[in-house]
Amino acid sequence: MRKNIVAGNWKMNNDLSKTAALLSDLKEQTKTSNAEVMIAPTFTNLWHAFEATRHDDIEVIAQNMHFAENGAYTGEVNASMLKSIGIQTVILGHSERRAYYNETDESLAKKVDTALANDMRIIFCFGEELADRKSGNEETIVENQIKKALFHLEASAFKNIVLAYEPVWAIGTGETASPEQAQDMHAFIRKTLEGKYGHTVADDMTILYGGSVKPGNAKEIFSKPDVDGGLIGGAALNAENFYAIVNAF
Ligand code: PEP
Repeated sequence: MRKNIVAGNWKMNNDLSKTAALLSDLKEQTKTSNAEVMIAPTFTNLWHAFEATRHDDIEVIAQNMHFAENGAYTGEVNASMLKSIGIQTVILGHSERRAYYNETDESLAKKVDTALANDMRIIFCFGEELADRKSGNEETIVENQIKKALFHLEASAFKNIVLAYEPVWAIGTGETASPEQAQDMHAFIRKTLEGKYGHTVADDMTILYGGSVKPGNAKEIFSKPDVDGGLIGGAALNAENFYAIVNAF
């Protein structure tokens, strides 16, 4: 069943005291929409954020995890560590992870498998670079990213996957895909899923848009029929702005 979700990716922002302050600002906001709300603080603040929002309508999620179950991977965090502090959902494939930490479709496929094997929900991110769009290759790039990381899965796995289309040229740049560009790509993603898994999987898939969503443009983007919500970076660092986006549904 398709859902409306607004997820805030805090990236490498907010130490413990700023996390606590932002959480208390978030708790003062009123949700008037039916969107599920998620926030992704950095690893060191996940436990605090989980405890602090235990009784609120906010899910705390992780920004990343390793594909291995355990072992000699200095500096990494695995699925069971996340689950042991109550985290059920993980963002995988964010373009910053792909660009700065060499995450590939192949390594992401392994992370996807590990997350699913641990009964975690995944927000799987992908999207084209500016050069790809300029050369008209955006659909091929997106199709390949989805196929390589996800098309080895059984149809039933998709109930635990949310897709996030994030054109790299729109992330943190102030440049937003137009609502029509977002709609066109989301419809293409659904068609790609339908080709492999059939109508029900495609129609049930929640597909988020990410890339400079703000209170001023959220309503128009979310009004498109194949856009089911947003993955929000910069604007998620301010509680009022974030909830203006949540309430744009
Ligand atoms: C993101 O990093 O996922 C993102 C969408 O960032 P921003 O909203 O700042 O463009």
